[in-house]
Amino acid sequence: MAEKKIRQIAIYGKGGIGKSTTTQNLAAGLAERGKKIMVVGCDPKADSTRLLLGGLAQQTVLDTLRERGSIEELANILKDGYKGIRCVESGGPEPGVGCAGRGIITSIGLLERLGAYTNDLDFVFYDVLGDVVCGGFAMPIREGKAQEIYIVASGEMMALYAANNIAKGIAKFANKGGVRLGGIICNSRNVDRETELLQAFSKELGTQLLYFVPRDNIVQHAEIRRKTVIEFSPDTRQAGEYRNLAAAIDENKEFAIPTPMEAERLEQILFEYGLMDGIDPYAERI
Ligand code: ADP
Ligand code: MG
Repeated sequence: MAEKKIRQIAIYGKGGIGKSTTTQNLAAGLAERGKKIMVVGCDPKADSTRLLLGGLAQQTVLDTLRERGSIEELANILKDGYKGIRCVESGGPEPGVGCAGRGIITSIGLLERLGAYTNDLDFVFYDVLGDVVCGGFAMPIREGKAQEIYIVASGEMMALYAANNIAKGIAKFANKGGVRLGGIICNSRNVDRETELLQAFSKELGTQLLYFVPRDNIVQHAEIRRKTVIEFSPDTRQAGEYRNLAAAIDENKEFAIPTPMEAERLEQILFEYGLMDGIDPYAERI
């Protein structure tokens, strides 16, 4: 039998858009489906696994290295969270010192050397900070670790602007290697005609709107209890949304090389969908 391939997935998007929240809930949803998962936090904030571990207690890879000088055991950096999801935080350098992407490079190298990528894994998620896919932050895709990418966005202009920039980075690597964009995940900000806007944006980008996650205050209630929505309130509608997102990723077959757009085209799309029935509600009246 052919060796099973681990699906390695990088999640990109503007800071604060909901990457960590969405990734952890999605991972919880996949774990419920019986999948074996590892989540690698690639943000110096080191909060990519807080909801799975029930707190931030965990030491990051860079912290541990600073303290011990070297890491010889996986147990030093890898902790089991909700439903056995393996959790790692890369961490960052001391503020203002060094390249913030270095933690990712160090962490992936260590995880490989210490044998963290075991064959029983179905998914590895890299929750990556950054509006721009540059330097160390491109590491998961540059080195061909993650072959599959999702961008979290919303109907807000800056989120779409960042998503388009990320797509530019992906296109560069995709043309050279096997990295592909699996779709856009909309994490709603309750913007007018947001679904249509995100659909139009995704189409222009040569990809699909994979899933629309509604905005719901239950996310905050779960968050202050250090839990995913799936763990905190499994019977709510929002938990169902995250399960559906997990299913959409599990079953996704559409992988594309993105076709990023010029800023003018993006603004044109935004303008078009900001109109009510084709009429500009703020147009000057004569
Ligand atoms: P990122 O990892 O992209 O920086 P986070 O996942 O930390 O963003 O999300 C930022 C904040 O947005 C979180 O504190 C969370 O409470 C909130 N949030 C994310 N997704 C939702 C949602 N679907 N509904 C309500 N709040 C959300
Ligand atoms: Mg985050």
